[in-house]
Amino acid sequence: MNIHRIAVLPGDGIGPEVTEAALKVLDAVQKSSKRFKLEIIQGEAGYNCIKKYGTNVPPKTLEILKKTEACLKGPMTTPEEAGAPPSAAVTIRKNFGLYANVRPCKTLPGVPSVKPNIDLIVVRENTEGLYFGKEFEVAPGKGVAMRVVTQYASEKVSKIAFELALKRKRHVTCVHKRNILRVTDGIFREAFLTVARDYPSVAIDEVHVDAMAMRLIKEPEKFDVIVTTNMFGDILSDEAAQLVGGLGLAAGANVGDNYGMFEPVHGSAPKYAGQNKVNPIATILAAKMMLEYLNELDAASAIERAVIDVLKEGKIRTYDLGGNSSTIEVGEEIAARVIEFSH
Ligand code: NAD
Repeated sequence: MNIHRIAVLPGDGIGPEVTEAALKVLDAVQKSSKRFKLEIIQGEAGYNCIKKYGTNVPPKTLEILKKTEACLKGPMTTPEEAGAPPSAAVTIRKNFGLYANVRPCKTLPGVPSVKPNIDLIVVRENTEGLYFGKEFEVAPGKGVAMRVVTQYASEKVSKIAFELALKRKRHVTCVHKRNILRVTDGIFREAFLTVARDYPSVAIDEVHVDAMAMRLIKEPEKFDVIVTTNMFGDILSDEAAQLVGGLGLAAGANVGDNYGMFEPVHGSAPKYAGQNKVNPIATILAAKMMLEYLNELDAASAIERAVIDVLKEGKIRTYDLGGNSSTIEVGEEIAARVIEFSH
């Protein structure tokens, strides 16, 4: 029996509600599995910690993360006050070297989709680019931001994209804007082409980011794995999420060489906090990606099957999908299907 120790950080706003629903599903998969058990350690992180600890990722939480294989992270409110700490996600990504952000987008049954057969993954470099976070006001009214791109990080994220493509439709599209950003995106493109030479069975192409924004709407079904720099990936993956039903369904993985953090793509949606009405499926699919990372593939596909079944049936769904079920009802229904399918 495999024992996986994982951390769970419920976060802010709607975070505790969607996390509770995802925990119901994780509980169901481990009860139905003879292969593994999860040892779950809950930790505090997010905006709610700033007053209490002076930081959004307290040292105790970092210690918990260091003792675990992976973490399921709820959404967190980003502090915006001058001098505030960076977002908790950024702190965790930096501390654990989580250099790739993987965001799948797939047409789901019973959910409106721009095209009927979208199945793509956006792989975004997660540590540098314009989100490197160094901005300066060089003169009053004149700001400069640094866009850092290294061959090292670009090769590492490209390798993740090619490894994913090997298990899928074997096609990787590199998105950049090298015609304008000749140095930084020149380095990114060269690194991509260097890694591509190690994967002769994977087809490649290149698309400029502005054209990609359009093609994602026009012909999203033509793409398999898309790899790009930090900010382009952030924007394109939100666009792609909307093509297949919106933020309530979009999950993401942040992976490095030794750790993985899994989260819904959406934020803490403060206006809905405490109402038990938002969609927990993004967080449940993040938990599914975590199980894939832990190599518990049967459990991961049991979650996916249960989600698809509940969506296809269409009876239990939250407001964003036209229903009126609560967050926890959706979690409990998916958990019940996981158990039903395991018999
Ligand atoms: P948001 O994603 O929290 O919410 C925007 C809107 O999307 C909501 O008002 C709601 O209509 C919809 N929505 C979001 N999640 C939903 C769900 N599960 N089910 C149904 N509808 C859902 O974006 P925001 O309001 O711009 O940001 C709120 C806070 O979250 C900000 O502080 C932001 O910085 C932060 N944020 C955190 C993360 C993260 O922790 N990874 C990601 C994005 C934003």
